[in-house]
Amino acid sequence: MSVTVDLPVPERVLAIGAHPDDIEFGCGATLSKWADAGALVTLCVCTDGAKGTWEPGADLGALVARREEEQREAAAELGAVGVEFLRFVDGELLDVLPARGALCAVIRRVRPDVLLAHDPWRPHRLHPDHRQAGHLTIGAIVAARDPHFFPELGLAPHRPSTLLCFEPARVDHLESVPDHVDRKVAALLRHRSQWRSTMGIDDRPDDQRSAFTRQLHDEARAAALHAGLRAAEGFARVDDL
Ligand SMILES: [Zn+2]
Repeated sequence: MSVTVDLPVPERVLAIGAHPDDIEFGCGATLSKWADAGALVTLCVCTDGAKGTWEPGADLGALVARREEEQREAAAELGAVGVEFLRFVDGELLDVLPARGALCAVIRRVRPDVLLAHDPWRPHRLHPDHRQAGHLTIGAIVAARDPHFFPELGLAPHRPSTLLCFEPARVDHLESVPDHVDRKVAALLRHRSQWRSTMGIDDRPDDQRSAFTRQLHDEARAAALHAGLRAAEGFARVDDL
């Protein structure tokens, strides 16, 4: 299969993730590269992140507020211009019409050239929110481009030119990111509440932070290898929107 490398720098970009930190894992280096090149990057987080702790007695309201703050800091680290929070309940995201309408409104307001989201067709994907967020994105793209979907929003239709699915079942597009893996790491580390559960940073924080950083550099190198690049993020690319 042929693999394309590097889209032209888009003017406007929208990245959609199920939880705070998903976008950074999936495409943080690419987003920071484009932001540095002048793209207006907006993030959209579908759920409130309320399941994101291993502490049984945690104050979940405080956790949600903290995770939104962390997400804003991570977005600033990437150079994004803003974050939209849809605040559906973590773990209970469903591809249903009200959620699709909410996401359609975001697409019509942001008017992205390039949209990035979870690949809903990746096999053996465990987390239901990741599947649902991917399917929601596909449905919202179809709705956003056609005036007869959600006319009550009062927003002009918009058709993005390209969808890049991150963490895909098969990679057919790479973004070369040799200078931006460290920004991806820095943005992820802003999600301090997730250090233990998601990033393996706990009782030996200095060593474990270094290991996490090495792991992300290794992944970027592995993704780049067969295209002769130094570091990359891989996507499934859909142009026919
Ligand atoms: Zn997630």
